[in-house]
Formats: sequence, C-alpha cells, structure tokens
Amino acid sequence: MQIHPRAIIDHSALRHNLACVRRRAPGSRVWAVIKADGYGHGMVPVGTSLEAADGLAVARVEEGVRLREAGIAKPILVMEGFFFGEELAAVRAHGLDPALHQPGQVALLGQMQAVKPLRVWIKVDTGMHRLGFDPREIPALLARLQADPRLAGSVGLMTHLAKADDPSDRETQLQCDRLRALDPAARYPLSIGNSAGILACPASRTHWVRPGIMLYGASPLIGRTAAELGLRPVMQLETRLIAVRTLHRGDRVGYGGTYVCPEDMPVGVAAIGYGDGYPRHAPTGTPVLVSGQRAPLVGRVSMDTITIDLRGLPAAAVSDPVILWGEGLPVDEIAERAGTIPYELLCQVTSRVRMEHRRNHECTRICTNFHRVKKNL
Ligand SMILES: *Cc1c(COP(=O)(O)O)cnc(C)c1O
Repeated sequence: MQIHPRAIIDHSALRHNLACVRRRAPGSRVWAVIKADGYGHGMVPVGTSLEAADGLAVARVEEGVRLREAGIAKPILVMEGFFFGEELAAVRAHGLDPALHQPGQVALLGQMQAVKPLRVWIKVDTGMHRLGFDPREIPALLARLQADPRLAGSVGLMTHLAKADDPSDRETQLQCDRLRALDPAARYPLSIGNSAGILACPASRTHWVRPGIMLYGASPLIGRTAAELGLRPVMQLETRLIAVRTLHRGDRVGYGGTYVCPEDMPVGVAAIGYGDGYPRHAPTGTPVLVSGQRAPLVGRVSMDTITIDLRGLPAAAVSDPVILWGEGLPVDEIAERAGTIPYELLCQVTSRVRMEHRRNHECTRICTNFHRVKKNL
C-alpha cells in the first residue's frame, strides 16, 4: 500500500504543456518559470525535465543558485534581481541573468569589478505599478548600461502584465505598446508574455516569453478551462479513505458541526487536510473523486482529514482512492470553490505530502499495463 497523501507529478504532461507554449508563441524563446519550488511541483525535477525550454526563470537569487548546484546549465533569469553585494557576487559566480528594477541595483552594478560579462534585463513598469522603472527613466538608463563594457552590450527590456487573465481588458495591449515604444529601432530583446499573455495577447509574444502556470496545466484565463486550452494537469493530489461511517439524520459533522445530515447516510473520512495544503476554505459541496466518481465534501476541512458525502457511492470502502485534484478534477475548479487561484493551491502543498515524479519510462510502463489490463477485459 502506498503512503498517502501523495502528489504525483506527470513529467510528460509538463513537456506537453511546454509544447503548447511553443505552438502559441512559435517565434519566441521560452523562459520556463519555475519559482516557488516549481509552483509546488519540485523546482529541480521540473527544471531538469524542461530540457526543451531555452531558459528557466526564478524570482530570487537563491533559487537560481540551487538550480546551478543541481547541475542545470541553461540561462537562468532572476526576476527580482539581486539586493546586496553578496547576491550580486552569487549572480556572477553562477552565471545568472538578473532583472534590474530599482536604482540601488544599478548602483551595485556600477561598483562591480570587471571580470565576466553579465546579461541583464531592465524591468519596466508599464502599468502594474509593482516592480520596475518608470518608462521615462529608461532611455537614460539604457544609454548608461549600453556604454558599460562589463555588460557586454547585453541588455534586454522586460515587463509584467497586470490583467492578462481577462482577454477583454485593453490594458494588456497598452502595456505591450508602452514597452515596444521604448525601443522603436528594435535594438533590444523584449520579454513580455506570461501564460495569460501567451494565450490571449499576440503582442505579448516577444523575443522571450515567461510562461508559468500553463506549464503546470492550470488555466490562466478567466472563464476558460485548462482542457479547452489544450493543457494537461501535471499534479495529481490523492489520498485514501481511512474510515466510512453511517451517520444518522440530524448528526452534525466535523468542527463547528456546520453540516447536518439530512438523512441516515454514509460519510467517508479521507486522509488529507489543510496540514497537507488542501484549502481550509473549501466549502461543503466542493467535489472530490472517490474511486474516480465525484462526491461532495461536507463540513469543515480539518488539519488531517476531510469528510465526504458518500450517498452516491454506496459501495465505497476504507482504502478507496480519493483524488483532490488532477485528471478529471481541475485544480482551477477547486480553487474557485475555495475562493482562491490555482497558483496558491499548487504552491501550498506541504512537505508532509510525498511527491512522486513520473518520468517518461515510468509513464510508458503504466500505459503498457493499462493496455494489458484492457486486453484481459
Ligand atoms: C510568476 C511570473 C511569471 C509567470 O506568470 P504565469 O501567470 O504563472 O504564467 C512571469 N513573469 C513574472 C515577472 C512573474 O513574476
């Protein structure tokens, strides 16, 4: 019997989703965004699997260093750049490509000794108003950096989209226009598109794109499912039933007794809770798959368990498999029920959940077994 709960990471789905990025942005180079431990999927295994990406992108220097220490040689973009001298030293020692978003970073660059040239990306604030330089500061900054031989003339311009998840919002196109306007002679590489931009805004498919969430098979667009977009889920979060009880009409289930059984009914208890990263805010009615069939959660999510209405599954028994999200149950749907976004659910799976990586050969074996089973039927 397998230890539960566990998160199964399907690397063939990951590579399939990267191929989707390529089809949508055929003229672009791809930084695969694997910050935050590969959106909860394991940064090093994911980074290793994405051999076909042109580069990898992380948020922090420490993440880039970890990738280098794992033997990954690809270009690595550090989207928040460095903050102090030691971090800049690590950027140079490990050959990372930092983004520059505030003057202190430029000042640190100015103090650095000339050794190996560095590639840098200037982050421009085209409307998100989080990180980046004001577009009016860019011409002078470009002139200054371009004149610096230690940068080997390798400077790019990047920006991040604030509302690309809503394809009807015109702001996305305007943000793209604002970045392009800074480089009328097309002298610099540009990087705009995140997942939503790549899928819905052609102007964001620049020299480099930076897909994250779509690589993991969740939808970045409001009102569009991942399946409609041709994406396959990479993570399957699963556990088992550890108890099946028959409760009576009027019985209250779980903390606070928020669910009251409307009749005598079977209720299953599955071994997963917010201590594993399942969202505590998932309300009564949130679907799970018990032996492949949908059943609704009832009562509050606890730290180690959830309770499930099994009236639709009279044969359900202890040790039956329960899927919280994955194939047949999109993480997007659970996120919507819980009032959050798939990004958060994927990132918050805790270290108590065992991560199992299925790479190509294992997948082939499973598929082969599947055909054998089918033949026997
Ligand atoms: C996280 C991030 C991305 C990836 O965004 P997705 O919506 O996951 O595709 C791209 N660019 C920057 C600057 C980011 O911080």
